[in-house]
Amino acid sequence: MTKEVNLIDALKRYFGFDKFKGDQEAIIRNVLDGNDTFVLMPTGGGKSLCYQLPSLIMPGTAIVISPLIALMKNQVDVINGMSEGDGVAHYLNSSLNKSAVEQVKSDIRAGKTKLLYVAPESLTKEDNVEFLKTVKISFYAVDEAHCISEWGHDFRPEYRRIRPIISQIGNAPVIALTATATDKVRTDIKRSLGIADAHEFKSSFNRPNLYYEVRPKTKDVDKQIIMFIKQHPGKSGIIYCLARKKVEELAEILKANDIKAAAYHAGLDSSTRSKTQDDFLMENIDVIVATIAFGMGIDKPDVRFVIHYDIPKSLEGYYQETGRVGRDGGEGKCIAFYAKKDLKKLEKFMEGKPVAEQDIGRQLLQETAAYAESSVCRRKMLLHYFGEEYEQDNCGNCDNCKHPKTKIDGKDALLIILKAVAAVKENFRQEYIVDFVKGRGTDDIVSHKHDQLDEFGAGADMDNKLWNPVIRQALLAGYLRKDVENYGLLKLTASGKRYIKSQEPFMIVMDNEFTDDYVDDSNEAGGTSALDPELFSILKDLRKKTAHKHQLPPYVIFQDVSLEQMATMYPVTQEELTNVQGVGIGKAKRYGKEFLKVIKEYCEEKQIVPPEELRVRTVAKKSMLKVSIIQSIDRKMALDDLADAKGLDFSDLLDEIEAIVYSGTKLNIDYFIEDVVDDDKVDDIYDYFMESETDDLNEALDELGDDYSEDEIRLVRIKFLSENAN
Ligand code: ADP
Ligand code: MG
Ligand code: ZN
Repeated sequence: MTKEVNLIDALKRYFGFDKFKGDQEAIIRNVLDGNDTFVLMPTGGGKSLCYQLPSLIMPGTAIVISPLIALMKNQVDVINGMSEGDGVAHYLNSSLNKSAVEQVKSDIRAGKTKLLYVAPESLTKEDNVEFLKTVKISFYAVDEAHCISEWGHDFRPEYRRIRPIISQIGNAPVIALTATATDKVRTDIKRSLGIADAHEFKSSFNRPNLYYEVRPKTKDVDKQIIMFIKQHPGKSGIIYCLARKKVEELAEILKANDIKAAAYHAGLDSSTRSKTQDDFLMENIDVIVATIAFGMGIDKPDVRFVIHYDIPKSLEGYYQETGRVGRDGGEGKCIAFYAKKDLKKLEKFMEGKPVAEQDIGRQLLQETAAYAESSVCRRKMLLHYFGEEYEQDNCGNCDNCKHPKTKIDGKDALLIILKAVAAVKENFRQEYIVDFVKGRGTDDIVSHKHDQLDEFGAGADMDNKLWNPVIRQALLAGYLRKDVENYGLLKLTASGKRYIKSQEPFMIVMDNEFTDDYVDDSNEAGGTSALDPELFSILKDLRKKTAHKHQLPPYVIFQDVSLEQMATMYPVTQEELTNVQGVGIGKAKRYGKEFLKVIKEYCEEKQIVPPEELRVRTVAKKSMLKVSIIQSIDRKMALDDLADAKGLDFSDLLDEIEAIVYSGTKLNIDYFIEDVVDDDKVDDIYDYFMESETDDLNEALDELGDDYSEDEIRLVRIKFLSENAN
């Protein structure tokens, strides 16, 4: 009977659209026919409609399980907005009070409600299960179905309980939808939902309008981001960082540089979050700096760029997040910053987790690393990851295709690898194989007696940098296969076996090189890459003269890093000068004038117009802790008590205080020094720093000798710097 429905009419009537997108119509027919359905469609492909439309047509109420409580209200409002009666769509989640829940139930009982959105944790509640048993269910829709699998990028344990609950409530067809699923995740989803025979609809994941680029994460990453945004004025963009702290810092830096930006993460209260989301949709804000908590289901068609400040934990997550740009088919730039160091940090985070989980996490990370480091077409790699082959040689819309590397013949290396994989009986992973062909007798290899095989060390005199790209490209070419279910063991495919017998040229590209000069030091601001060496040396001379005039060591006037930044950012006003690291307002007033004059003259002489983008303004990154330390010192709190109160070691507290003083803030700790250090000692240490060429602690310890403790020296050094440098 349902087959007779004119779907186009319904589409027009309810949604106002003229035609279906992609597989929508076929999917909807499958649901109307009462079959289980599995939908794989990229973000923005139009998945919601695949369950919304049939729910409006079919008798009964459809249950939509979605993890996104924040978006339920929004979706429900949209449906109700286009319906004649009230209560066509409802949601049940923890945000509703008792009377609201009663209203929902009474609308469902009255047969008004066609669509009920439920969070998985509400679905498992006894009350709700009992109630739903009495309701006629048209079908169950499981949105963001990848949450079922630990192999996805967003595992939610409650999702595992969906099948048992469905069986309790009453069976009805199931439609599962997701934007990202590797083969492994797809199998997991079907197994867990018990829909092994579901009809599968898989759209191509290729998004031709998206441009992919990976940049090395260098010291000037903030500056690069600012420049990028300034080159795309007024465009909407999202920047993802892994840590909340970084999110907030970066948002502040962007704001300080006149970019309309806001921070978004799960630690903010929900009204702030929804305001930020609205501001972004209404274009009051151009750039959102967010943890992954932002963007799932955000339907802004003209987001123009997504920047990954940190490399994501999995390619699935990466694909999902980049999927949010260019939904309207227009420009969409996806830039990721990559540093090997970040990868190590992510691995470290996993250490406390169960071994099996660590193992999965590590494999996912390796895939991301391969994506970042490889010089192969990014699109080809991404699509391969999702089980789709991209046949074109050059996609023309990724960094590697725009700047292709010269290919070299990797035939010999490939042969060595394939034979090695065979020799160790296809039972080992990539790192093991690489060690094996290099001839590294690791404990692991020796314990398997593999160092005694003929193939061991077969590639010892070849370039070490060959092996990873050869293996990765052999995977892409289908000579090797990674057994994802089994720790990522490398297996030979049939064509890999054939290759060993009949070798042909195997053209490969070497990986991109990533130098690791990125230092993740939150106190470090701006970079020094654009340092003007001539100005730097002029400023150094000036510092020497000034120091001489004031009878102070040069570093007290300005530290090297401050001079470096001046020679990079060309500050010409006092305000700009205070944006330089280590220069507080006091210092700018005390010593700044002459430096500004020199910089200005230099710029005029050289006709340097400080490029606006380069004058990246940084913000005082005084953490809450630092602010509270400053306040306590103003109240003359004893420093040992302060350390206790903050749960810090005394020496950690001194670290914090030093950081405060070095960044240009004056602190008076005389009240404490008087109590704990002899007056004579204070004078000696003070004099020492006055005479010394450096404020280095070890040198001071050496010079001053055993009578002075490290803490004493540090305390007096703080006093000295506060009085003379700030
Ligand atoms: P997904 O959940 O797959 O990421 P959505 O269901 O949020 O995608 O839909 C993405 C966008 O496409 C929405 O703005 C939606 O209104 C629009 N859309 C869906 N189907 C159609 C259609 N047939 N014609 C035009 N626009 C559509
Ligand atoms: Mg969706
Ligand atoms: Zn490409």
